Amino acid sequence: MNILVINAGSSSLKYQLYDMTDESVLAKGLVERIGMDSSILTHKPTGKQEVTEVSEILEHTTAIRKVLGVLTNEEHGVIDSVASIDAVGHRVVHGGESFKESALVDSDAKAEIRRLFDLAPLHNPASMMGIKATETNMPDVPQVVVFDTAFHQTMPEKSYLYAIPRVLYSKYKVRRYGAHGTSHAFVSQAAAEFLNRPLDELKIITCHIGNGASLTAVQGGKSVDTSMGMTPLEGLMMGTRSGDLDPAIVPFVMNKEELTVNEVNSMLNKHSGLLAISGISSDMREITEGMQKGDASSTLAFEMYEYRVRKYIGAYAAAMNGVDVIVFTAGVGENSVVLRQRVLEQLTYLGVELDEELNQIRSGEPRRISTSNSKVEVLIIPTNEELVIARDTHRIVQASSR
Ligand code: ADP
Repeated sequence: MNILVINAGSSSLKYQLYDMTDESVLAKGLVERIGMDSSILTHKPTGKQEVTEVSEILEHTTAIRKVLGVLTNEEHGVIDSVASIDAVGHRVVHGGESFKESALVDSDAKAEIRRLFDLAPLHNPASMMGIKATETNMPDVPQVVVFDTAFHQTMPEKSYLYAIPRVLYSKYKVRRYGAHGTSHAFVSQAAAEFLNRPLDELKIITCHIGNGASLTAVQGGKSVDTSMGMTPLEGLMMGTRSGDLDPAIVPFVMNKEELTVNEVNSMLNKHSGLLAISGISSDMREITEGMQKGDASSTLAFEMYEYRVRKYIGAYAAAMNGVDVIVFTAGVGENSVVLRQRVLEQLTYLGVELDEELNQIRSGEPRRISTSNSKVEVLIIPTNEELVIARDTHRIVQASSR
């Protein structure tokens, strides 16, 4: 079965085509600048030359038509015809409380995703555009939606409720939902497999640290707490997001600076985090470089970022009354030797012992970076959210056709 995985943003669309007989990637790519002039399609067929096409792509339906065009192109295509795509899996950011797992796309699912626009106004409408565009181009192909929030639906009330008037929960469903669920689920499962230990006996802290970043406490294979909240703004300091702050700062700043709701949202989501403190960049590579050259703002940005990760690990060890495994994943988690080192060298009170040589190795494979004496296993597990989407799509479409 060939499965096309689609991750639609408001002006971009990422895709990967999987052959599920061996879970190999046949091709992947990205359409950028949808709706702007000179949209760019970058197509990477496995084992063939990468191609880039610049054209005018005004909306997602055209974007998907172009993607299907390159996938079936004689020269740089990987399949003979669109009919060889058996199903499409979509990444959807917000599944609210309605979606506790991935689901087949039907009219009820679409109506529910639309109802959730309120909770994810930047993301869910884009996913819906991806779903509709797929429907237009491939009307008979089954589609599955896979939610970033679904894995966290196992959180107990004490983790997901905010201590604010309960009417806000009953009226508007204001609560913690978390994000990066497919990644936290994937790496916690992969950690148990790597260690050859049963997932349901493990207390795992998964650290998904990329541009967006979140930590999750996974107990017995279930998410029991996570650092992102109703939106992806809460928790860790991120590339351009503030993470946790005193909520009273919001009305204070709005009042003093005469900011609108949109302006304050943009300040906290796009102009905060590493970018705001360093004044240089939201990219951890540039921050690390700045720090190594002795730049004081980069050093402060790095220290604040690292400190917040370490505090959350402490909090989740407390939440689970211990921790057996700490997993690092995503861009920063998988690649930043210095971030892992600074975090882990301050966790000796938990019995963490880092093997500094293992920490230096880059392999792209799951691996251990703690010593054999360490009471806590520390692992790096490269995440693969697209594969989770492909697997869920495969499972759900097969079950529905029985
Ligand atoms: P996204 O959340 O967009 O999926 P990624 O998980 O790809 O992000 O992470 C991207 C971030 O990873 C980059 O912004 C960069 O800061 C960081 N990163 C990538 N490589 C390295 C590296 N070698 N050292 C430190 N940080 C890195």
